[in-house]
Formats: sequence, structure tokens, C-alpha cells
Amino acid sequence: MAELPDDFHARSIPDVSKLLETDAEVGLGSAKAAELLVKYGRNELQGQRGINPWRILLQQVTNGLTLILTIATVVSIVVEDYAEAGVLIIVILFNTIVGFVQDFRAERTMDALRKMASPSAKVLRDGVQTRISSGDVVPGDVIIFEVGDIIPADCRLCDVLNMEIDEAMLTGESMPAMKSVESLQAKDTTIGDRFNMAYSSTTVSKGRGKGIAVATGMATEIGKISTAIDETPSSTTPLQRRLNKMAYVLFVISIFLAVIVFAVNKFNFNTEIIIYAIALSIAVIPEGLIAVITVVMALGVKRMARQNAIVRKLVVLESMQPVTNICSDKTGTLTQGKMALTNVWIPSKEETYRISGQGYETTGSISYGDEVLDAKRILADENFHRLVECSALCNTANIIESSKGKVWGDPTEIALQVFAYKLQMGKPAFLGLKEAVLEFPFSSASKRMSMVCSNLGTSDDFDIYTKGAENVLEICDKVMDGEMVKQIGDRSEFLEKVHAQIELMATQGLRVLVTAHRRTSEQSMGKPMEKWERGDVEKSLTFLGLVGIRDTPRVESKISVQQCHDAGIKVHMLTGDHKSTALAIATEIGIIGNQLPPSDVNTDGVETIVPMYREVMTAGEFDALSNDEVDALEELPLVIARCTPATKVRMIEALHRRKKYAAMTGDGVNDAPSLKKADVGIAMGAGSDVAKQSSEIVLTDNNFATIVLAMKEGRRIFSNIKKFVVHLMSTNVGQVIVLIVGLAFQDSEGVSVFPLSPVQILFMNMVTGTPPAMSLGIEPASSSIMHVPPQLGGLFTKELMMDMFAYGSFMGGLVLIDWTLVIYAFGHGRLAFDCNDDSNLNACDTVFRARSTLLMSFTWMFLLHAYNCRHLRASLFTKEGGGGSFKRLVDNKLMVWSVVVGALLPIPFVYIPTVNTNIFKQASITWEWGIIVASVLVFFVLSETYKLLKRKLMKTPYVL
Ligand code: ATP
Repeated sequence: MAELPDDFHARSIPDVSKLLETDAEVGLGSAKAAELLVKYGRNELQGQRGINPWRILLQQVTNGLTLILTIATVVSIVVEDYAEAGVLIIVILFNTIVGFVQDFRAERTMDALRKMASPSAKVLRDGVQTRISSGDVVPGDVIIFEVGDIIPADCRLCDVLNMEIDEAMLTGESMPAMKSVESLQAKDTTIGDRFNMAYSSTTVSKGRGKGIAVATGMATEIGKISTAIDETPSSTTPLQRRLNKMAYVLFVISIFLAVIVFAVNKFNFNTEIIIYAIALSIAVIPEGLIAVITVVMALGVKRMARQNAIVRKLVVLESMQPVTNICSDKTGTLTQGKMALTNVWIPSKEETYRISGQGYETTGSISYGDEVLDAKRILADENFHRLVECSALCNTANIIESSKGKVWGDPTEIALQVFAYKLQMGKPAFLGLKEAVLEFPFSSASKRMSMVCSNLGTSDDFDIYTKGAENVLEICDKVMDGEMVKQIGDRSEFLEKVHAQIELMATQGLRVLVTAHRRTSEQSMGKPMEKWERGDVEKSLTFLGLVGIRDTPRVESKISVQQCHDAGIKVHMLTGDHKSTALAIATEIGIIGNQLPPSDVNTDGVETIVPMYREVMTAGEFDALSNDEVDALEELPLVIARCTPATKVRMIEALHRRKKYAAMTGDGVNDAPSLKKADVGIAMGAGSDVAKQSSEIVLTDNNFATIVLAMKEGRRIFSNIKKFVVHLMSTNVGQVIVLIVGLAFQDSEGVSVFPLSPVQILFMNMVTGTPPAMSLGIEPASSSIMHVPPQLGGLFTKELMMDMFAYGSFMGGLVLIDWTLVIYAFGHGRLAFDCNDDSNLNACDTVFRARSTLLMSFTWMFLLHAYNCRHLRASLFTKEGGGGSFKRLVDNKLMVWSVVVGALLPIPFVYIPTVNTNIFKQASITWEWGIIVASVLVFFVLSETYKLLKRKLMKTPYVL
């Protein structure tokens, strides 16, 4: 990699730009950036998010399954059963390779997804601000920073406004460092004192700024001190870990069962009995299960990514299933987030001005009453003029090319900027006249923003422009009345008048902003401008008027909210907006109105109207309640207006105290605590990096409907996992039953003869079982999946255990009947000795034929059982999914193929000489096929009867 100097803090900005062949105003050209990416490599730390193939390989060879198989192999070699040992070695190798490939692929998918959701950087390329993945940043890139951004590379700052950076992770300093742009004299200044630099991986805690990237990847300071930061979140989920643990539990069970085998055979350690014990140990383990889960989950996250929901932590696939409450933002999530300023009110007017226009078009008409007014006339009104100035200047948004929708910034501010443009008073109109010198940024906690502007060349005075929620009124002591600035006389009369107007606009669903202004000077402030604090600036302001901004709800929000209600999921809207705005929008999209009953019937049978305050509260009202009072509320509010990040945390805590599972959306830096606290944290793609890193899912389209799609996908995956767990594990139960009962079948020497051989069991569990299980994993979502309440209780519910044992007993019982029929009813009824190996073939013929019968009937039942498991309660012939029962039987192509191939595949091994006797310990059959077909039919009848009983007797709702 090419070397760059490391004394950028001591160089001037023009010098840095020249050295890196860039331009602080225009940034790099795309072609040049691509060239530099090749030259300097990707902006990534070594080991970061890297996939470690050795670790994956180690995982494959150190699990309970491999352990059992290895012990079985060693024992087989010791007892000189080389054929079996050979098969076992092939199985171990196959399992390790398949497991490795699947895990590697799954990790690669997660890795790619994490990269998609990883911090992004706002850079200037060819003069246009664009968002790129942090990995694509190259030295020379001009990067724009805002609060909450994680600095993607080491940068020499070239522009800052109140910028503070939290550098604790690099310097250990807990206080954020204030930044400026002047070059330092000393080259050997320590990193903590290089106040004109921003270092990779640190976070912007205040203000904003711009910097030129001077070092990327391993050349950054963080890269130098950490040769291998492995921040890959654990890629295994609790479910996978539980299953891994379960493998060890099964291992212990298998040892226990082996002891039983020896005990029943009076601790006679002859080869025959040892092989029996091996067979039983292998039967206990669902060999294919973990691999199938890995693949199904990986496919699931890929699907979700296609639907704009990027899974950052696999665990979410499990935690989404039981979600009972979704707490969602309003702006941009439930609404389009594409705002337009539609109403303006100034104190001297009775009515509001109405502003028209399409999208971000900077043209539109302004009318008052029935009259359309021209810009000149409106701006002649000093009050209106100031309000427009405030809209344009107390504003960080940029309109690049409005006709093409190229705009940059916060939607509220874009709306204000577009409005100013409509009066030819957008930001560019103030170039050379006014310049922003100090900014007190907006945050969802402060709910207001102030900008101090200097008047270039005209006066030493400064203009303070403030805009925000009603709390701006608290810092106004004057009001503009036409040309005049008047002291507010009767404050309550003033507030009453303004609040009435706010209420009027808010009930129309408009976001209302208060605008204010003050002209001041360093002299009257008593200190130089650089030293002005927020408290100095935000006081004694003059109220200018109100603006109303429309943010239309997304069309799909209403449908999605309804889907949540159908699925028993409550939707809460936590918004920063005014109560009436929130109520109007919440009613429009159905959060309020059809979720709670409009009335309650009390114990005396008297109907009482559910008080509205329970459904809609302001954060102030909610926070004023103690935890006990919150818990005493019958229902938590569906809408919290004027919500702050702290209230979001309280809401999650309140939900948790009610034993609810909550999903929470967020985008700001301050949302990180609530996102972390929620069971499912959902960050917005366009949100801050900190929010993204605290969440489990990132929505690339910020859309509420995507959350609902992700919920549906989570439910689908979970219900499919249940299906194939029942499928695979009930077969294990069946096999164990066969071998435990089989202990009673002893030969003339008192040695138990196994009805199923170890290789037969392995063949069933791995070759026959895995493909249909996989096909269950990719089953489409049932149409009822979003019509049942959230299912608590994890994977191993009582019903699932019951199913496993019921189907296991059906299969085990039926094949034992087959065994008895072949040997005792139709055969000679004698068990010859040495039938657990191939040394006494002639005498063992009946036993070997019986084993073939068992393998085939068990295999066919196992395959039919895959169809059973598609619906754990509905009949195989359900019409669910539409298209009639036949179509339903063939619509899952993978299932059809795996059943057909799985049914035919074992047949050659019944007939191929030597392979059948020496490896499978079975022999050719003829009339026994009749028994096989009959048992499969009986199994089918038993399964359907069992499901019928379940449907009749079980009251709990279930996904059909
Ligand atoms: P939601 O939580 O529904 O997504 P939000 O996060 O957009 O809403 P906030 O951004 O916290 O809500 O806005 C709350 C209030 O703060 C708004 O109603 C408005 O009065 C005010 N406000 C919003 N944006 C700005 C801004 N850029 N400058 C000043 N005030 C603002």
C-alpha cells in the first residue's frame, strides 16, 4: 500500500488538498476515487468482520455429533468391522465438508449484509454530496460529518461548526474534544491534542463539519493500534447454541443408552453388542438438523435483504416471532418523510397563508383567502420577510437540483428551504450577505434549533434565527406585529392565541414549527461570538409566526398497521410531533380507532367511554407518571407525542414489565439506548451510524411496511424450523424406540439382535432426511401466518414435544410390527446368532430381510412424514394456499424431488450383493414389499387421525 505522510495536522488545508490532489469544495472525481481505491485498498481494518475459515472448520469437528461418530468409528475399527468404520469415516468427512461449506456461506452472507448496514460516509464526489460505504472512502475524499456519524477515516478537518468528537476509544479521554481547522505548529502534538483532525472510529457528538480523508484502513491511527479488531457480532443465535448444547445432551443420553444395551446383555462386551450400542448412539442424534437450520436461516436473511430489511444479528430471526408490540417513529416510517410546507401564519393575520407546489419544485403560488399573492407583495411585509429568512438560514438542508429531486438534509428543513426558494429567498440568495457562524443544532430532545448569522460587510450585528416546537415560545418575550417588534404584554392571551392557531394546523395533521428571531451584537452579549452558549442565544427572542408542514402518510402504512392488528401485534407511534398532529396521523393510518374497543364495560355492566388520554399522551404526561402508575394503566398509550429518546426507553421498560416483546424503531444518536433495550431494535438506513450499530435490523427504505414484512418472514422461518425439527426428531425418537424395544429380541446366545443397523440409521438420518427437511425450511408462509397472535414459548413447545413423541411412536411401533411379522408371522421365528455382523449370512437371512423391510417402510414413512409436517395440525389435503389439494401436494418442488429420490435411493442398497449384506446388514426382499406399503398406509391413517384429534381438542391458536 502506498505511504502518505503523517503530519497532516501541521499542514495547511491548501497544502493537504494539493498533496492529496483533491478539492475541499468539489471532492474527488469518481474515476480518480476508483483509481485511489485500487492504490490504497479498501478502508477496512484487518480482521474486522473477516470470516475465519479455521474457526468455522474447528466448529465442525468439535461438535457433539462428530464426537459420537468418531467414537463409533474407533470402536468399529477395534471390533474389526471395517465396512462400518469406512462408512462412518465417509459420513464424518461428508458432514464436516458440507457443514463447513454451509457455515462459510452463511457467514459470508451475514458479512455482506453487515457491510451493507455498516457505517456509511457522506462524501463530496464530483461536487455532489453522496453517501458511500465507509469501505470505499479513499485518501483525498472530502467527507461531511454530522452528529452521530462515526468518522470513517482519519481526516484533516477543513470546516467545522461547533464540532465536538468523542475520541474516548482512541485517547481514553471521556470528554468530547472540541474541533477547529487551524494548522498546528508542532508536528509531534499528541493525538488527543490534534484538534484539527478527526480520527477513524470516533463519533461526532456535537455540531457538524467537513474533512479531507488523509489515511484509510490499516494506515489510520485505530488501524495502527489494533491489528485485529474483531467486532463481528456472534453469528450463532441462542437457538443454534441451544441446539449445539442439545447435541452434547444427546451425547450423554446416547452413552446412557449404550450402557443400557450392555446391561441388558449382561455386560457381555462382544462385537455384536458393541455394534448394537453404536447403532443406538447414532439413532439418538438428528445428524442433519444443525446444517438445515444454518441454511434455512441464511436463506431467510437473504430474502429479508431483498425486501429491504437487513439483518445485522441472526438472533433476530428468533426474537421477531414473539413480538407483541411495535413502537414506531412517525416521520419517514409511517409517513413518506417527504415534507412540504403548506401553511404560514403570522401574528397580524387571522388566517394562514397557503403555499402550493409539487414535490421539491421550487415554484408554487402563495395565497391568502381567495387571493393569490405575488412574491414581492408578500415580502414587503417585514414580518413575513423575517420568517422566510429564518426558514432559509436556520437551516442545514441544500437544494442541489430541485427538478430532479436532488436535495440534501433533514426533510423538515428541506420543506422550509423549498418554501424560501419559492420566494427567491433560498440560501444562495444570501451569499455574500449573511453567513452562518454558529449553530445550536436540532435534537429530538431539545426540539429546536438556532443559527447565528453574521451580516457580511453591512454591520457588526448578528442575527439569531430559531425554529422548533412550542418550546420556542417559552424563549420569546417579543412579538412581531407588522413592521413593529412589540413586547409581549399579556402573555397568557398571547399564548392562547398562538396555541389556538397551532391546534388548528396540527389537527389537520400538519407539523407545526414556531419561528423566532433576535438581532444582537458581541457588545450587548458581553462576550465574543465564539463564546456564546446556547442559553445566551436562545432567549429574549421575537416571535415571527408559525409554519405548517405536511408529511403525507405512506399508502401502505394503513394496510400494514391492519396486518399487525390481525397478527395480535399492537402498534405504538412514538413521535416528536405535537399531540394533535400525532392524533390526526395516527387516526388516518388506523393506529387509533380500531385497535382498542371504543368503550369498556365495567363490573357493574355499565359502559364507560375509554378516555382518550390513555391512547394518546404527550411524553410530558407519560413521564409525569411513576412506574407504578404506568403499570396501573389498563393499556399503554398507543401514541406518545413530543416523545424524547428517554421516553422511548421508559416505554420499552413499561412493556417489559408487562411481559411484552417489543420492537422499536429509531434513527438518531439518542435512540441507541432504546434500540438496544428493545427486543428487536430497528434502525433506519438513513439514520445515524450509532443507531444502526445498536440495532438488529436496518431498514434500507425506512418503511413501516418493511417491518411488517420482516415480522412475517421471521414468523415464517420460525414456523418452518418447527416443522423440520418435528420431522427430523420424531424419526430419531422412532429409531430409539425400535432399538430399545429391539433389545428384547435376543438370539440363541442371548445377544440382542438390532432391527436397524448403524449404516441404515445413518443413511436415513442423513441421506433420506436432510433434503425433505430443507424443503420444509423453504416452505412459503402460510396464509394464516399473520392471523395468529405472537407465539411465546420458544421452539420446544409442549405441542412440538408431543408431536415428536407421537409420530416417533407411530413410526417406531409400526416398523416393530413389520419386524415381528417378517420374523415371527411369516418367517421361521428364530433369531440366529451373529446377525449383527455379516459372518453368519445364511442363518441370518430372515433377520437381514426383516431389516430391509424396516429400512424401506421406515424410510417411506419418514418421507411421507415430511408432508405431515407441512402443517402440524391441518390435514395433508388441506386447501390452504389455494389451488386444491393436488396442486398443494406438488407445489413445493424441492419436497417432491426429495421425496421421490429419497424413496428410490435406498432400493439399490437392498439388492446390490455384498453392499447389502456387508455394509447395511440387510438382504434382498420380495413379498415383504406388501408389508412395507401396508405400514405406510397405516402410518398415514394414524397421522391424519392424530391431527384430527389435535384440531378438535387443542384450543390454542396455531398457524395452519
Ligand atoms: P418521529 O419521531 O415521528 O419520526 P421526528 O423524530 O421527526 O418524529 P422530531 O424530529 O423529534 O420528530 O421533531 C419533533 C418536533 O421538533 C417537530 O414537531 C418540530 O416542531 C420540531 N422540529 C423538527 N425538526 C426540526 C428542525 N430541523 N429544526 C427545528 N425544529 C424541528
